[in-house]
Amino acid sequence: MSKRQVAMVMDLNKCIGCQTCTVACKTLWTRREGMEHMLWNTVNTQPGAGTPHNFEKMGGGFKDGVAQPGIRPTVEDFGKAWEFNHKDVFFGGKSDISLAADGGRHGKGPNWDEDQGGGEFPNSHYFYMPRICNHCTHPACLEACPRKAITKREEDGIVLIDEDRCKGYRFCQEACPYKKIYYNEMEGVSQKCIFCFPRIDEGVTTACSRQCPGRVRFVGYLDDPEGPIWKLVTKWKVALPLHAEYGTEPNVFYVPPLSPPKLDEDGNATDEPRIPTEYLVSLFGDGVHHALETVRREQDKSRRGEPSELMDLLIARKWLDMFGPFQK
Ligand code: SF4
Ligand code: SF4
Repeated sequence: MSKRQVAMVMDLNKCIGCQTCTVACKTLWTRREGMEHMLWNTVNTQPGAGTPHNFEKMGGGFKDGVAQPGIRPTVEDFGKAWEFNHKDVFFGGKSDISLAADGGRHGKGPNWDEDQGGGEFPNSHYFYMPRICNHCTHPACLEACPRKAITKREEDGIVLIDEDRCKGYRFCQEACPYKKIYYNEMEGVSQKCIFCFPRIDEGVTTACSRQCPGRVRFVGYLDDPEGPIWKLVTKWKVALPLHAEYGTEPNVFYVPPLSPPKLDEDGNATDEPRIPTEYLVSLFGDGVHHALETVRREQDKSRRGEPSELMDLLIARKWLDMFGPFQK
């Protein structure tokens, strides 16, 4: 058990799917050979199959405390790095930039379902859901590793893979129900999000949160009553873990998205939200009802000109306050 736990809250009402977080992470951590297909941060269109493709059906995690069998995702499930035909266009006289000669469809790309979403017009809907390793309190990856190569830092609960100990058996990939571990074929080791620990050690927040133009990502300690995480997760209960039923106690939490009203056959607004609440419950559990009600109620207060701590927090007027003690 770690003494403290760093955590992240992502407000799905604000994510615009720009992938700046993905690029920030890729640029900083996964530029070496063998890491081409790795996106430790991904942003997917929901409803959708996610990355790796259909990860929610690949098993792993725990049921009643017992480890569950899981499937190891392939590179094709994650989607290989794409190559564009820049050479043909710039030097070969071709007029269109397209994916390279083999069609570019090396399996599924990182957000293959971009903007497809769900529902039928005029009630079509989608939202974006960014994902990183959840730095779980009960990490299935750690428990599955026979080499004890995976550790959870005592000071902040960040889950790390020791590449000197890792032998590339990939039991961690099977065990992680979020499928957030990648395999580096060049180096024969498993690799994953490190919650930017060298930055955290210096009091600087993660690259994905710092670069996010949508002010989507809050960072801090789970038990810090002065910080944003405790307020959003514990005090206001508007931020919820993804698939808590996987039993790993994830430390990334989501503010579920509000949506415009569903329209009836005549085009009139109904009382139902366009994104079906049951769908959100299937992702984030029953807490969705309370979270959505609370955000709506506080939003109304704010519209009436009344003060709302929750709205001030979510709007994040003071940008650096989003990062708790990691504001450098
Ligand atoms: Fe391990 Fe997966 Fe949890 Fe990350 S999300 S700590 S890889 S079980
Ligand atoms: Fe863009 Fe932020 Fe959403 Fe990432 S989390 S896609 S940076 S808005």
